[in-house]
Amino acid sequence: MEHFTAQNQYGKDGPKGRRVIKKEYPFNVAHTQQYKAYSLHNFRKIPQIRALPEKLKFEIEVVAQVFPFKTNTYVINELIDWNNIPNDPIFRLTFPQKEMLLPHHYDKIANLLNLDAEKEELEKVVDKIHEELNPHPAGQMEYNVPLLNGERLSGLQHKYRETVLFFPSKGQTCHAYCSFCFRWPQFTGKEEYKFAMRETSLLIDYLKKHPEVSDVLITGGDPMIMGSRSLRHYLEPLINADVQSLRTIRIGTKSLSFWPYKYLHSPEADEVLALFRKIVDSGKHLAIMAHFTHPRELGTPAVRAAIKRIRSTGAEIRTQSPVLRWINDDPDVWATMWKMQVKLGCIPYYMFVVRNTGAQHYYGLPLERTYEIYKNAIQQVSGLARTVRGPSMSAMPGKVHVTGIFDINGEKVFGLNMLQARRPDIVMQPFFAKYNPEATWLDELEPAFGEKKFPFE
Ligand SMILES: *Cc1c(COP(=O)(O)O)cnc(C)c1O
Ligand code: SF4
Repeated sequence: MEHFTAQNQYGKDGPKGRRVIKKEYPFNVAHTQQYKAYSLHNFRKIPQIRALPEKLKFEIEVVAQVFPFKTNTYVINELIDWNNIPNDPIFRLTFPQKEMLLPHHYDKIANLLNLDAEKEELEKVVDKIHEELNPHPAGQMEYNVPLLNGERLSGLQHKYRETVLFFPSKGQTCHAYCSFCFRWPQFTGKEEYKFAMRETSLLIDYLKKHPEVSDVLITGGDPMIMGSRSLRHYLEPLINADVQSLRTIRIGTKSLSFWPYKYLHSPEADEVLALFRKIVDSGKHLAIMAHFTHPRELGTPAVRAAIKRIRSTGAEIRTQSPVLRWINDDPDVWATMWKMQVKLGCIPYYMFVVRNTGAQHYYGLPLERTYEIYKNAIQQVSGLARTVRGPSMSAMPGKVHVTGIFDINGEKVFGLNMLQARRPDIVMQPFFAKYNPEATWLDELEPAFGEKKFPFE
């Protein structure tokens, strides 16, 4: 596909691999760089952007009024192929695209900018568009906030019996923003959208009262945006509390893709890694849930050195990403990515269907196509990469797995399954939906074979 340049650049098995991977960090100092973020207010200063046509810059400016936009020096200098704009997948991943807005939304904002409208007027229109973009998919805000002694713990989410999500208040931003991200309400600066919690102590109390919870998944934003001091502030009490029923600490992060120097620049990096080692030494399993969208993100010397250093602490790295039109909607991209991950010692975990929020109309694919991408990609890899489960929809009732397309007694249907469910008794219960070639999400599916409802209803 046109937008997939990693293969041309790196070949099927990934980046000029061997030569690079043999080099130990610190490699050539020219590769290291200072972290600098760019967003709406200063993106025109990016040297590579200056060279682009004004039309494209204006489009970025329009769309960035609605969707949070942030990129950084590593993404700009080491990931994006500037000879392939706007089709480059990493450019599409972090820079706003005109088509992310519906045409009438785009025109409204563009007009206001052209008219030099008042800030308040612009904000009002942006707020209204936000509300129309389904900012709380899967009932996250209302349904999953747990109670402790009658108090709502707004920095926790407890949806599936075994796993609690923890949103440390200092980890609610990222090194760069993915243009498709469903967490965007958290970045738009609206207090009511945030579920943050300041104290680990409430988490510990909750875990002690809920021995059924074996996993804490620390998430954001990106918790690895925090410095080593903040990370220690959250994680050391958790380890020291020595809650026996807690077996696994997971950290959901895209830092390996967006700022691998997090794990390379001393002394900060050494302290982060020492903390990882401490978690592992305490007897807990530490899993870094790394978000990789495209094989390009696995190809730089920095990310490879970072993976190696994290793995040397005893932490495991598991990988996940949604399937996104324009960015990774190609089975070869996924097969390449999984092969590279396994080679680097990472474990492919989830392949997601892009959520029904934000710019889903732009990034979304028919479920049928997403399933074909999965199947075709899985066929190309060995068993060690077939640990990945998908395509999976994280919907209100749970994680719904598309297991295949069947023809049963003359009726074409989707096979579905619950990988995770609010109700543990329906996990792994297969069910069927009427075939619908256009459906991109669960809410567009109907039960097959004359059933009145799905098992989770
Ligand atoms: C995916 C997910 C989890 C983790 O589920 P696992 O199957 O244990 O990986 C936990 N909570 C929520 C809300 C999730 O979406
Ligand atoms: S890094 Fe994660 S939370 Fe941050 S923008 Fe990307 S997908 Fe969203």
